[in-house]
Amino acid sequence: MTVRTRFAPSPTGSLHVGGARTAIFNWLFARHAGGQFILRIEDTDRTRSTEESIQEITDAMEWLGLDWDEGPFRQSDRLDIYQKIANELLESGHAYKCYVTSEELEEKRKEAQSKGDVLRYKREWAKLNEAPDEPYVIRLQTPDEGTIEVQDSLRGTVTFDAVEVDDFVILKRDGFPTYNFAVVVDDATMNITHVIRGDDHLINTPRQVLIYNALSYDIPKMAHVSMILGADNKRLSKRHGATSVVAYKDKGYLPEAIINFLSRLGWSHGDQEIFTKTELIEKFTLDNVGKSAAVFNEEKVEWLNSWYIKNEPPEKIAGLVLPLLKEKGLDVELDEKLIKIVIELSQRAKTLNDIADMIGYFYAEEIKYDEKAANKFLTPEILPILQDITDRLSQLSDFNMDEMHKIFDQVMEERELKLGKIAQPVRVALTGGTVSPGIFEVMDILGKDEVIKRLNSAISVIPDEEVSNET
Ligand code: GLU
Repeated sequence: MTVRTRFAPSPTGSLHVGGARTAIFNWLFARHAGGQFILRIEDTDRTRSTEESIQEITDAMEWLGLDWDEGPFRQSDRLDIYQKIANELLESGHAYKCYVTSEELEEKRKEAQSKGDVLRYKREWAKLNEAPDEPYVIRLQTPDEGTIEVQDSLRGTVTFDAVEVDDFVILKRDGFPTYNFAVVVDDATMNITHVIRGDDHLINTPRQVLIYNALSYDIPKMAHVSMILGADNKRLSKRHGATSVVAYKDKGYLPEAIINFLSRLGWSHGDQEIFTKTELIEKFTLDNVGKSAAVFNEEKVEWLNSWYIKNEPPEKIAGLVLPLLKEKGLDVELDEKLIKIVIELSQRAKTLNDIADMIGYFYAEEIKYDEKAANKFLTPEILPILQDITDRLSQLSDFNMDEMHKIFDQVMEERELKLGKIAQPVRVALTGGTVSPGIFEVMDILGKDEVIKRLNSAISVIPDEEVSNET
């Protein structure tokens, strides 16, 4: 048996982390088994489905690297299949036409409500208004008593009372299938062997089981995974902030970090936290999917992202930062300099955007000094020291970090100063602020000419002591 899983999003918005986790589990399960992963767009809700959402979902999946082997199939392209199978159910007596209008049902619902009941559909209503030209829905004839069992790989046998399931609609008046019917027809005709989805769908599964049985189809293996909760232990929703995959992409997250993070929501492998995709594929099985709900921890996804930023090849990170820099109007190329900068800045960045935000001074024509930093460190008192350093650095024929170190050591010794006393003013002169990678690394990246130029500019803005005393 070839394992075939599917991801079946309803295109009513962008891909959220919950949906992405479902997609990842199905993808990993299929890849682990050397099987196939199918993408199916469940767009039968015509008022809420949009083309834009389909695009967003497929873009997000491509960004995550969740490649599909078949599809995307669209349910709206398959109406004839649902209609044909619904008619087969009519012929076999498992389903019947129902002519009750929505208005009549609404009346009955109100009536039931006024008595404190919920509406339960009665089969004899079906014939109301029956006439060859009247519109009708098709309902499945469901058992009046007994139980319906759902075999779930994570939860074992889950039993539902048949009376809870009344004769539900499988095909609507407009010829569109209902969700439960379309899912079963698709999963069966697409030969899906394993259905892994959120446990919010467990409530639908007894209905689906009845459709499978009516059609004598084999039921795929089902696994209903617990929902993802926010830090407040409530079901994760927009209230908890940006939860769409694209929002993470826009914030400068790497797909590797998101895949790693989401795979671990509900699945584990010992205490291991960092997993490459290959490792995930190798290790993912349903045996290690837990029953309890997983909590979405914002700090952890951030931590994972900074780990990946530090550990992915710097050339790759530089390539990803490049377009962000271009957007900022920086005329930058993917060269040795950018890679060196990325190596340094990745040590302190949580996202690609952090790197892009910190990088500006490396490429600035002119340094803009942070006012506080300049007032504190570019002072008349420091002037002779900066001048001294500048003179010595300009005499270096080989501008390398060892030689720079030596110069700083000499100046520190001769003037009996600590490194910070010298390094901070130099840092402000070179970067405009007080936070940057190591000062020698910064100088190495900027190169001799630029370092001397920036030091001289700083020297020229330092107020002369006598002048400042007079005023
Ligand atoms: N279309 C459903 C959803 O987006 C998924 C249905 C299923 O996985 O069976 O929630």
